[in-house]
Amino acid sequence: AVQVTDLHKSFGGTPVLRGVDLSVARGSVTCVIGPSGSGKSTLLRCLNHLEKPDRGEIEVDGVLVGYRRHRGKLYELKERAVAAQRASIGMVFQGFHLFGHLTVLQNVVEAPIGVLGLSRAAAEESARALIARVGLAGREDAYPRQLSGGQQQRVAIARALAMRPAVMLFDEPTSALDPELVGEVLEVMRDLAADGMTMVVVTHEIGFARSAADTVVFLDDGLVVESGPPEEVLDNPGHARTREFLARVR
Ligand code: ATP
Ligand code: MG
Repeated sequence: AVQVTDLHKSFGGTPVLRGVDLSVARGSVTCVIGPSGSGKSTLLRCLNHLEKPDRGEIEVDGVLVGYRRHRGKLYELKERAVAAQRASIGMVFQGFHLFGHLTVLQNVVEAPIGVLGLSRAAAEESARALIARVGLAGREDAYPRQLSGGQQQRVAIARALAMRPAVMLFDEPTSALDPELVGEVLEVMRDLAADGMTMVVVTHEIGFARSAADTVVFLDDGLVVESGPPEEVLDNPGHARTREFLARVR
């Protein structure tokens, strides 16, 4: 479902992604691990064209992201077309980014009504189902400030799902949470994975990666050093860099 080929990205002359290849099959979960500054967030942000790659190509469900190809050349898409592509790529960040002046239900229906053009009735019906799915039935009328961080993050997940994305991207979704709230968010993500959602998850939760990932990718200094099933990359890594990193985070 996601295909990244030879992705390069620099900031002010400093290379951050130095030729990343990544392939995420439909319905599979890829966890990306790696040291701070290795380019994990930049990689995710390139996937929905929040960052513009310097070189390389990204396809989601066979569609080039951010560009169209014409006679072998790439032309950047207009912002409106990029926004349409982004609608099919759900993103959940470390912070929750909910609209503070909107209730849980309003947060979840906003984009389906505004962007997908759903009727309010249809959007609300599906929003209620999603809110229940993330374990928050009965909290539809609460405001974000009335919820715990874990609950807010679950609303953020429901809001992303409301756009019926082809793929969900998570950037350290639990790292801003109090430790006792991490489990409930990971549980929702596990359910999603079990349900067949295609997911790319940047995480420091090695336990989650071990139990939920089909593929673990170790990114270091802008390159994929190692990639494979969790029992290989996490328990029997082939590279010294991977072993050193795992020794530090465990
Ligand atoms: P962390 O684990 O700390 O979240 P990361 O692997 O997500 O790290 P990135 O956020 O992708 O790392 O950043 C990689 C490098 O790119 C860092 O050195 C960062 O300072 C730099 N960088 C990221 N975004 C920008 C930007 N918009 N402008 C300039 N430099 C940036
Ligand atoms: Mg990051």
